[in-house]
Amino acid sequence: MNIAIYGTKTYDRHFLAAAGQDRFDMRFLEVPLGRDTAQLAAGCEAVCVFVNDVVDRPVIEQLAALGIRIVALRCAGYNNVDLAAASEQGITVVRVPAYSPHAVSEFTIGLLLSLDRKIHRAWSRVRDNNFALDGLVGRNLHGRTVGVVGTGQIGALVARALRAGFGCEVLASDPVINPALVDIGVRYVPREVLLRDADIITLHCPLTPDTRHLIDAAALAAARSGVVIVNTSRGALIDAVALIEALKRKRVGGVALDVYEQEAGIFFDDLSSEIIDDDVLQRLLTFPNVLMTGHQAFLTEEALTAIAATTLRSIGDFLDGKPLADGVRLQG
Ligand code: NAD
Repeated sequence: MNIAIYGTKTYDRHFLAAAGQDRFDMRFLEVPLGRDTAQLAAGCEAVCVFVNDVVDRPVIEQLAALGIRIVALRCAGYNNVDLAAASEQGITVVRVPAYSPHAVSEFTIGLLLSLDRKIHRAWSRVRDNNFALDGLVGRNLHGRTVGVVGTGQIGALVARALRAGFGCEVLASDPVINPALVDIGVRYVPREVLLRDADIITLHCPLTPDTRHLIDAAALAAARSGVVIVNTSRGALIDAVALIEALKRKRVGGVALDVYEQEAGIFFDDLSSEIIDDDVLQRLLTFPNVLMTGHQAFLTEEALTAIAATTLRSIGDFLDGKPLADGVRLQG
C-alpha cells in the first residue's frame, strides 16, 4: 500500500521508515495536507497527517476522488478532521489514542517548574556570565492548589505527580471521575470552582465546543490573582487575546504554553529569519512571565516509536480487513 505522509520532519521520517519500510511504500511530503496539497496523494490509498493538517470536507472530498480509503492521524486529537464528511465518503479515520501520556505529562511538569522557578530566565542570564539572583524568586509547588482540567491519560499522570510527588492540593474537573485519583486525595469539583480556587491551572481536556476558550475573559476575571496557567493540550482552550489583557493588568502570575490557537502555519517550522504577522503570538512572547514551546510535549523517542508503530499497525489492519482498535467514529 502507498501512503502519502504529510507534514513530515526528519524525526517523523526516521521513526516511520524504521517501523514500516518492509510493508509500505511511504511518500514523505514536507507540506501539510490542505486544499492545495491534497492532489499530492494521487496514487496512494492512505494518507497520514498530524495535528495542524486540514482535513475538512473539501479536502476529504478531494481525497475520496483520488481513491484514498484511510486517513491515519499520527496524534491523539482529531479536532482537525471532518468525521461526518469522512463517513459520507467511506473514508476510515484512525488515530493514536495513547502513544506516551508520560511524554506530555512530564513535559507539563517541566514547563511548570521552569516557569515557576524561572529556570529558563536563569539559564540565559548565566550564559551571559550574569550570576545575580535578583528577579529570580520563585514559589514552592508544595502546598499550592493546582486545578487539573481533564483527568484522562495525561491529566491523571499530572495530577498524580503533583499530588503524590510534590504534595500539592489537587482539584480536578472531568465528567468522568478517576477513583484512583480520589484515593490519593484529588478532589473533583465543578469547573467554576476549580477556575476560582486554583493557584495553578493545567489543561488536559480535548478541544470540543464545550471547552473552546475555556480560559476566557470571564474565567480570568474569576481566577485567583496571580494564577499560573499551563496549556499542553490544544491552543484554542485559551482565548489568547483575553489572556494578553489579563497579563497586562497583572492578574496572571505566569503562563506556560506548548500550544497556541493559531499555531497552524507557524509551529513546526524555523521562521527565525521571517516576519511573523501574528500580533497576538508576538505580544505573548514579549511578557517576562510567559514561557512558550512549539507543540513539543509529545516529542520523545518513546512516543515517536509508539506513534509510528500504532499508525502503521492500524493501516496494516485496515489492509488486512481486521477490526480497527483505534478507529475514530462520529459520535451520536
Ligand atoms: P484523554 O482522552 O485520555 O483524556 C481527556 C480527558 O478529558 C477525559 O478524561 C475526558 O473525560 C476529559 N474531558 C472531556 N471533556 C471535558 C470537559 N469539558 N471538561 C473537563 N474534562 C473533560 O486524552 P489525553 O491522552 O489525556 O490527552 C489530553 C489532550 O492532550 C488531548 O486532547 C490532546 O489535545 C492533548 N495532547 C497534546 C500533546 C502535545 O504534544 N502538546 C500531545 C498529546 C495530546
